[in-house]
Amino acid sequence: MMNPGQHNPSHAAFELFTQAQTFKEVQHHFSELCKHLEINPKDYKTFYRTLKDKLNSWKAKAMWTKFDKRASHPDYQQGKVCAKNKCLVLGAGPCGLRTAIELSLLGAQVVVIEKRETFSRNNVLHLWPYTIIDLRNLRNLCAKKFYGKFCTGALDHVSIRQLQLILLKVALLLGVEVHSGVEYQGLVEPTGENGWMAQIKPASHPVSSYQFDVFISAAGGSLRPEGFKSKELRGKLAIGITANFVNRHTAAEAQVAEISGVARIYNQKFFQDLHTQTGIDLENIVYYKDDTHYFVMTAKKKSLLKKGVIKQDCADAEDLLARSNVDYDALCQYAHDAADFSTGGKLPDLEFAQNHQGKKDVAMFDFTCMHRAENASMVRERKGKKLLIALVGDCLMEPFWPLGTGIARGFLAAFDTAWMVRSWGLGTPHLKILAERESVYQLLSQTTPENTSKNYATYSINPKTRYQRVNLTIQAHQVQNLYDTDKGGSLNNKVKNKHNPMRQDSMSGFEELLRWCQKHTAGYKNVHVTDFTESWRSGLALCALIHHFRPKLIDMSSLSESEPVLNHHLAFSLLEKELGVPRVMSPEDFTSRAQVDKLSMVLYLTQVQKAFTVPPK
Ligand code: FAD
Repeated sequence: MMNPGQHNPSHAAFELFTQAQTFKEVQHHFSELCKHLEINPKDYKTFYRTLKDKLNSWKAKAMWTKFDKRASHPDYQQGKVCAKNKCLVLGAGPCGLRTAIELSLLGAQVVVIEKRETFSRNNVLHLWPYTIIDLRNLRNLCAKKFYGKFCTGALDHVSIRQLQLILLKVALLLGVEVHSGVEYQGLVEPTGENGWMAQIKPASHPVSSYQFDVFISAAGGSLRPEGFKSKELRGKLAIGITANFVNRHTAAEAQVAEISGVARIYNQKFFQDLHTQTGIDLENIVYYKDDTHYFVMTAKKKSLLKKGVIKQDCADAEDLLARSNVDYDALCQYAHDAADFSTGGKLPDLEFAQNHQGKKDVAMFDFTCMHRAENASMVRERKGKKLLIALVGDCLMEPFWPLGTGIARGFLAAFDTAWMVRSWGLGTPHLKILAERESVYQLLSQTTPENTSKNYATYSINPKTRYQRVNLTIQAHQVQNLYDTDKGGSLNNKVKNKHNPMRQDSMSGFEELLRWCQKHTAGYKNVHVTDFTESWRSGLALCALIHHFRPKLIDMSSLSESEPVLNHHLAFSLLEKELGVPRVMSPEDFTSRAQVDKLSMVLYLTQVQKAFTVPPK
């Protein structure tokens, strides 16, 4: 039978575009499509309309109906609300692209720059229910063509690479310009004639003369634009290893069951057998099947040292996991053997997939070190030209990845940011915009699948459709420090720093947590919480917290102050099993010989607090 695309070159180009599986292929087939249809992708205002008029295969038509339905949401005001805004988005990771799509639906001109030339991250992301629905809707916009097998299995997950491909295709069809191989190096302040621009590499690239009034940084955790401060939260060392193996999509491979997360506590025997038979000692392991066979595990340092993966023990996590201290071949062997054992040797010929450097796709890292920006937005004004700057994704808040919060909170922030840009387009006073954005940002770190609205069908860029309580806790006068202007001849942000409610130092943030712990452990025998270290040594304080919120789970009278390991075993398992709080320490860390690690305790108690303060459904 003849392929419908063969009659008509533009239909064929469209078919190839929808099927493309690399960044380059997508860009190439998109430009071929535009050539055949004689439309200029730079005409962003009319691009989608013209494309719709000219491309009328049945598949395309079905897609336009879905696009139109989405674009007709009242929040977008028929693409008129931001028609005068020009946005630069830094980074074509999932969150940059997701934000770009929303900005383009608001009618803005959107240019995305990405320093990489390829989408090469095989790692597979676990998703929250709302992100699954969001991505299904986006995929459906494309008549199930962009990524047919997404979320069709028992487990809902997608590789970062496939996620980027879906988002890139949607973005391009909506008129977003996406440039690969373009590296952002800084902002260029307006001169008398020009507005805000970016310094980029290569300097000769046309984007270097693009003038914009909205700048979204979605560059991941390693790059935050000037003026944004971040806090670091580092727990006790936890070593994550990721490994990707070639998926040949054979029947034998298809039959091997995925592992959605086996933690040591649930399957002691499995981990003991693994240790006895291979010398590999893990806390947990996850296996997902996607483009690759993807494994992620938390390994114990002792076994990595014993197996020669880590050459020398060091107290500092960075030194410990430094490239020079890791035997790459031994790491590959370790990951290979763990994967082989956990799948019962049923994945034939485990061959490593390649990473972006053409090497075996294995990585090892300390996943408890996270950064979080102190604020989500700011406005800069120079020579009368205002620039709205916002952070999204890992750039705003790095996730604790075992909780799967990266994409979920990343997309929530993308929608919140689009809502802010909408207010910018509507001409709302900038301090009001900043106050609203920062109020909403305060909710983000507490979001869980349980405390966000379950009515996914009504999710929009309006925060009220997603968060249960949106209170504007921050007022305009409290965010004056986020308005950085040269008006009056001097920059005013330093003067106002002291009014910033978000600039709490880490201690005051911790004090709030301490007060919460004190309040809910008051009156328990042998429990006196005064700090994040010694007060927790016996384990009774943690058990008291559990008892306070869930008295049926624990019998306090059966516990003894002199049994810290037993008490912690009990508390950690209950919190993991009943409330889904992953452990970041082991019970043995609380014996009298060990020093209680303050940051690990803070990290852990923050999760415990969140788990207990979820509003009742
Ligand atoms: P990124 O994906 O980091 O994208 C940033 C982009 O910006 C990159 O493409 C980069 O090349 C580009 N860039 C950077 N600097 C520049 C520059 N100067 N100029 C131009 N471009 C630039 N999340 C989940 O939700 N669920 C999970 O199960 C999960 N598992 C994870 C497992 C591991 C091992 C890891 C490491 C992370 C995991 N995450 C998970 C987190 C998730 O991967 C991130 O939250 C997500 O990728 C963040 O997307 P982003 O768009 O913010 O940033």
